[in-house]
Amino acid sequence: MNIEHSVNAFEKAQNLIPGGVNSPVRAFKSVGGIPRFIQSGEGAYLIDVDGNRYVDYVQSWGPLIFGHRDESIENAVIEAVKHGLSFGAPTEAESELAELIIDIYDSIEKIRFVSSGTEAVMSAIRLARGFTGRDDIVKFTGCYHGHSDALLVQAGSGAVTFGTPSSPGVPADFTKHTLLAEYNNIESVKKCFQDSPGIACVIIEPIAGNMGLVPATKDFLAELRKLCDKHGALLIFDEVMSGFRACLHGAESITGTKPDLVTLGKVIGGGMPVGAFGGRRDIMAHLSPEGGVYQAGTLSGNPVAMAAGLASIRKIKANARLYGVLEERAKRLMEGFAKAAAKHAIPLQTDVRGSMFGFFFNCSHVANFADALKSDTARFARFHAAMLDEGFYFACSQFETGFIATAITDTMIEETITAADRIFGEIK
Ligand SMILES: *Cc1c(COP(=O)(O)O)cnc(C)c1O
Repeated sequence: MNIEHSVNAFEKAQNLIPGGVNSPVRAFKSVGGIPRFIQSGEGAYLIDVDGNRYVDYVQSWGPLIFGHRDESIENAVIEAVKHGLSFGAPTEAESELAELIIDIYDSIEKIRFVSSGTEAVMSAIRLARGFTGRDDIVKFTGCYHGHSDALLVQAGSGAVTFGTPSSPGVPADFTKHTLLAEYNNIESVKKCFQDSPGIACVIIEPIAGNMGLVPATKDFLAELRKLCDKHGALLIFDEVMSGFRACLHGAESITGTKPDLVTLGKVIGGGMPVGAFGGRRDIMAHLSPEGGVYQAGTLSGNPVAMAAGLASIRKIKANARLYGVLEERAKRLMEGFAKAAAKHAIPLQTDVRGSMFGFFFNCSHVANFADALKSDTARFARFHAAMLDEGFYFACSQFETGFIATAITDTMIEETITAADRIFGEIK
């Protein structure tokens, strides 16, 4: 595969932009190799600057549930652009998208739009703190909630402890209110509540997608709900990734546990920068200008972004079989991978939630970040590079989730499995 233009573009970008990218994962650091510079997208495909075509299992890290250049989303954006790019004043489109989402999510009674998932989570946390009058928060090792200071904390050893920052530039003082617990381990959460009487909220990806795909068990979430109620803490579901990806009505509909606040992003922008947080009416009433918890954004609820989100969510809502169809395809892909891996005696763990899929080169079931870290990342890197060379674009880290879009057909999935089978033979 000729990637000369990507090589040159990457070299140039590295001189101008740190690492050559505007979001670190794009640099392919964990798998090595040259990130492809993209010329365009078309349905299931990414086309790079050398004209190579790839079946895209990343889909902009989730947002593009209908694939690239979906006609209805594209037309909605073009139409919106003709009316003006931004007004800094309310538009009816904001209420229309709010109404749609509130109608679909049981736990969302009021919602506010922002411009990224990071902003959504950061604001939801501030709201939870303002509402409860408490400072401490609980997060889980391996869950990602955007890059705001207080949430950039992981555990070195999976031990439950007050957090230390995982990035230079984050003062330890800023993370001293962040307590860490282990995913799918309720005892670790109980320990947090023992350690602190002042926990404002527990934030969790109910279907974790940022340590690879690792869903929380129903029992764990039910216990979490009980603990939060017992201690007067709020439960926040971070569904920036899983929202409108795993199913229509949110993780609460497949797990049976209802959160107090939900954060959304990715799909609700249909490819444009949109985030949102919403939940109980009495909690949301604490948000400025109704209440005292300040939160604002010059481009929040941007009309072009709202148009893309509206077109995307309307199309999702009109398509009752959507998640069933996407899940069947995701399962076909993962079952094909599992079978091929078994044939070559490669240990592989797979899972699927709606249009989200994940596979770990790992000997045993992955229930938390410590388990995920036992995966064979060197083997993943070889798999990634070889698949890319064959024209299949997978996320460039063992600890990311894959996405099916409607534009990815059964035939493409069969071709992907055939290629994976051959490559498993080479990397066993
Ligand atoms: C992507 C993501 C975020 C951050 O969203 P950005 O739009 O990248 O700021 C937060 N939480 C989860 C669960 C995510 O997957």
